[in-house]
Amino acid sequence: MPANQVLTPEQIAAMSDADWQARLSDEAYYVLRQKGTERPFTGIYTDSKDDGIYRCQGCHAKLFDSKSKFHSGCGWPSFDQTINDHALTETLDLSHGMRRIEVTCTNCGGHLGHVFDDNFVTGTGLRYCINSVAIDFEPRT
Ligand SMILES: [Zn+2]
Repeated sequence: MPANQVLTPEQIAAMSDADWQARLSDEAYYVLRQKGTERPFTGIYTDSKDDGIYRCQGCHAKLFDSKSKFHSGCGWPSFDQTINDHALTETLDLSHGMRRIEVTCTNCGGHLGHVFDDNFVTGTGLRYCINSVAIDFEPRT
């Protein structure tokens, strides 16, 4: 299977926890499958301005266009919108004593980060704060 082929719902349903562990790096497994968070300002895409799209590291579904990426200074790659209306799923997250909206990849259920209400001049009022290890950059062709 080509590396960038999107996993089908059937393939995803058949994957065990061990399959995910084998498919992903330790860091990506920790974030995507165990809802972990990479340390701020350590991710490879935090300051990237390259033109292209970002896919899910878990299943390769398209998640974000680099046109919606902006510099927020929060320490993680930030986007003001998703690539389409169904790419991400939002869930209320009350962990760690905070009230946040978790965003997961709709296709594979992998944890990506959180979405916050923000009043950035350039944006839509939303800031998708995403872990670098949860996504994979593909240059525009
Ligand atoms: Zn995914």
